[in-house]
Amino acid sequence: MNANIVCIPGDGIGPEIVAEAKKVLNKVAEKYGHEFVFEDVLMGGASIDAYGVPLTDETIAKAKAADAVLMGSIGGDAKTSPWYKLEPSKRPEAGLLGIRKALNLFANLRPAVLYEELAAACPLKTEISSKGFDMMIMRELTGGLYFGERKTYEENGETKAVDTLVYSESEIRRIAIKAFDIAMKRRKKVTSVDKANVLDSSRLWRKVTEEVAKDYPEVTLENMLVDNAAMQLVKDPAQFDVILTENMFGDILSDEASMVTGSIGMLASASLNDTKFGLYEPSGGSAPDIAGKGIANPIATILSAAMMLRFTFDLDKEAQDIEDAVKKVLADGFRTIDIMPQDEEGKAKVTQIETKEMGDKICERL
Ligand code: NAD
Repeated sequence: MNANIVCIPGDGIGPEIVAEAKKVLNKVAEKYGHEFVFEDVLMGGASIDAYGVPLTDETIAKAKAADAVLMGSIGGDAKTSPWYKLEPSKRPEAGLLGIRKALNLFANLRPAVLYEELAAACPLKTEISSKGFDMMIMRELTGGLYFGERKTYEENGETKAVDTLVYSESEIRRIAIKAFDIAMKRRKKVTSVDKANVLDSSRLWRKVTEEVAKDYPEVTLENMLVDNAAMQLVKDPAQFDVILTENMFGDILSDEASMVTGSIGMLASASLNDTKFGLYEPSGGSAPDIAGKGIANPIATILSAAMMLRFTFDLDKEAQDIEDAVKKVLADGFRTIDIMPQDEEGKAKVTQIETKEMGDKICERL
């Protein structure tokens, strides 16, 4: 297959980790006879430095014309970078919000996987972590409480504030379809998380999700209240396959799920619209504290590239190949600094390597 991939290396460690993901994609292309054409564009701080704005129309147009976007991360150190002297709408992060909006990316996917070799980094009790877990959190990204009308006002001598949580049937249906499609590529279970015992928006969420489920007889749908879901994530994370939820619940639960893996440099993510198009990026930030040192972990970006192959290009075998190569590198005892064991005994069993070496070792195992 031929594919055009726009890359946004971004700021901080972004260029270092994107370079390794490209290396891995080129290796996959060579092995399977595909052609991936990459074009780099600027966004975030790098775009402010070059053009005075965090996101240009040209970057948007190029991203729209591409088959997929691979991003590193954007932003700098808020205390020292001149970008943060600008007003919020002109800072690097505004570029990210702008591109998500321009590309209509309404579905955010964050896998949380506990790798056997990194189980020691998991903060859960061993009896729970030993079962492992591999879940995909799908969060609605463009509706709900964060986008509803809000106001702060005075009434009867005191200040009041109101936020509104609105979902339409079509907004729920399109993300539910995505969740069920993705479950079909996994263990065929969707846990839809809501607060249907209290909220009307959740009752509509549940009704529409149950309707969509009828078109996927192979997939098991389970409804779970959000307070219970927050508990179950630390009590028994192995039970989850795809978690489908609205914007605010997803914001909170996806961070909770990330924390239980214990390894930020391993967390991939994707944001999708209603075509096959997606923007793929690591969940972590631009890590200004280690930028330019060549020691950042590129695995989250490489796993995001694997998600791109699976969800945009339907190249499931190639995606699995990358994921297996990552597991092999970990099993062979190679670690970047962020996933090094903390105790001396653990350190003695593994070898610390840098960003480029990690990319090379994954390529060697492909
Ligand atoms: P961060 O994720 O950049 O860093 C938090 C800690 O994790 C740091 O110690 C960092 O060194 C480490 N870390 C993160 N990714 C790593 C990797 N791949 N390998 C090794 N270590 C890694 O979060 P922060 O410090 O809160 O934010 C820094 C900047 O990143 C800010 O400007 C923030 O706005 C931006 N940010 C961007 C995105 C994005 O581009 N999507 C997401 C989050 C934060």
